[in-house]
Amino acid sequence: MSRHSLYKTARWKAARLAHLRQEPLCRMCQLRGILNDGSLTVAGAWQPRKKRRFLAVDHVIPHRGDLVLFWDQSNWQTLCPDHHDIVKQREEVRGFSNARGLDGWPLDPQHPANR
Ligand SMILES: [Zn+2]
Repeated sequence: MSRHSLYKTARWKAARLAHLRQEPLCRMCQLRGILNDGSLTVAGAWQPRKKRRFLAVDHVIPHRGDLVLFWDQSNWQTLCPDHHDIVKQREEVRGFSNARGLDGWPLDPQHPANR
Protein backbone atom coordinates (compact mmCIF):
# COMPACT_ATOMS: atom_id res chain seq x y z
CA MET A 1 0.00 0.00 0.00
CA SER A 2 1.43 3.39 -0.98
CA ARG A 3 1.85 6.20 1.53
CA HIS A 4 -0.88 8.18 -0.11
CA SER A 5 -3.50 5.43 -0.07
CA LEU A 6 -3.14 5.08 3.71
CA TYR A 7 -5.09 8.33 3.96
CA LYS A 8 -7.93 6.79 1.98
CA THR A 9 -8.50 3.85 4.31
CA ALA A 10 -11.64 3.64 6.44
CA ARG A 11 -9.33 3.08 9.43
CA TRP A 12 -7.58 6.43 8.89
CA LYS A 13 -10.82 8.30 8.26
CA ALA A 14 -12.33 7.01 11.51
CA ALA A 15 -9.12 7.54 13.52
CA ARG A 16 -8.75 11.05 12.10
CA LEU A 17 -12.25 12.02 13.19
CA ALA A 18 -11.65 10.57 16.66
CA HIS A 19 -8.43 12.60 16.92
CA LEU A 20 -10.21 15.80 15.86
CA ARG A 21 -12.83 15.23 18.56
CA GLN A 22 -10.04 15.00 21.16
CA GLU A 23 -7.99 17.89 19.72
CA PRO A 24 -10.44 20.19 17.89
CA LEU A 25 -8.11 23.21 17.64
CA CYS A 26 -4.87 23.89 15.74
CA ARG A 27 -2.02 23.08 18.15
CA MET A 28 0.31 25.76 16.77
CA CYS A 29 -2.33 28.49 16.81
CA GLN A 30 -3.09 27.51 20.40
CA LEU A 31 0.58 27.97 21.35
CA ARG A 32 0.20 31.54 20.10
CA GLY A 33 -3.00 32.08 22.07
CA ILE A 34 -5.36 31.71 19.10
CA LEU A 35 -8.24 29.23 19.31
CA ASN A 36 -8.54 28.07 15.70
CA ASP A 37 -11.13 25.43 14.88
CA GLY A 38 -10.15 25.61 11.21
CA SER A 39 -12.22 28.70 10.43
CA LEU A 40 -9.37 31.18 10.94
CA THR A 41 -6.16 32.09 9.13
CA VAL A 42 -2.77 31.72 10.79
CA ALA A 43 -3.10 35.41 11.80
CA GLY A 44 -6.33 34.71 13.67
CA ALA A 45 -8.54 36.42 11.08
CA TRP A 46 -11.65 34.85 9.55
CA GLN A 47 -10.60 32.51 6.73
CA PRO A 48 -12.21 33.95 3.59
CA ARG A 49 -11.47 30.88 1.46
CA LYS A 50 -14.05 28.19 2.09
CA LYS A 51 -11.75 25.41 0.86
CA ARG A 52 -9.18 26.44 3.49
CA ARG A 53 -11.64 25.99 6.38
CA PHE A 54 -10.74 22.59 7.76
CA LEU A 55 -8.33 20.95 10.18
CA ALA A 56 -5.50 18.62 9.22
CA VAL A 57 -4.26 15.72 11.33
CA ASP A 58 -0.49 15.98 10.91
CA HIS A 59 2.31 13.57 11.84
CA VAL A 60 4.70 15.36 14.22
CA ILE A 61 7.55 13.06 13.13
CA PRO A 62 7.16 12.53 9.36
CA HIS A 63 6.14 8.87 8.92
CA ARG A 64 7.83 8.46 5.50
CA GLY A 65 5.71 5.35 4.97
CA ASP A 66 6.62 3.84 8.38
CA LEU A 67 3.38 2.19 9.49
CA VAL A 68 4.24 2.31 13.21
CA LEU A 69 4.80 6.08 13.06
CA PHE A 70 1.80 6.50 10.81
CA TRP A 71 -0.65 4.88 13.25
CA ASP A 72 0.96 6.13 16.50
CA GLN A 73 -1.67 8.55 17.84
CA SER A 74 0.87 10.21 20.14
CA ASN A 75 2.57 11.31 16.89
CA TRP A 76 -0.53 13.14 15.63
CA GLN A 77 -1.30 16.84 15.97
CA THR A 78 -4.20 18.97 14.75
CA LEU A 79 -3.12 21.84 12.47
CA CYS A 80 -4.95 24.53 10.52
CA PRO A 81 -4.25 24.50 6.74
CA ASP A 82 -1.87 27.48 7.03
CA HIS A 83 0.24 25.85 9.74
CA HIS A 84 0.13 22.50 7.96
CA ASP A 85 1.52 24.11 4.78
CA ILE A 86 4.24 25.97 6.70
CA VAL A 87 5.34 22.82 8.56
CA LYS A 88 5.38 20.66 5.42
CA GLN A 89 7.27 23.26 3.35
CA ARG A 90 9.97 23.60 6.01
CA GLU A 91 10.33 19.83 6.25
CA GLU A 92 10.73 19.55 2.49
CA VAL A 93 13.42 22.21 2.39
CA ARG A 94 15.34 20.85 5.40
CA GLY A 95 14.64 17.15 4.94
CA PHE A 96 13.60 16.74 8.56
CA SER A 97 11.05 17.95 11.08
CA ASN A 98 12.04 20.52 13.70
CA ALA A 99 9.35 19.35 16.14
CA ARG A 100 10.66 18.95 19.69
CA GLY A 101 9.59 16.85 22.63
CA LEU A 102 8.84 18.18 26.10
CA ASP A 103 12.55 17.88 26.90
CA GLY A 104 13.37 20.21 24.00
CA TRP A 105 15.18 17.53 22.00
CA PRO A 106 14.27 17.12 18.29
CA LEU A 107 11.91 14.18 17.74
CA ASP A 108 12.70 13.34 14.13
CA PRO A 109 15.33 10.57 13.74
CA GLN A 110 16.39 12.40 10.54
CA HIS A 111 17.21 15.56 12.53
CA PRO A 112 21.01 16.15 12.52
CA ALA A 113 21.05 16.08 16.34
CA ASN A 114 19.86 12.45 16.21
CA ARG A 115 22.21 11.21 13.51
ZN1 LIG B 1 -2.75 27.09 13.05
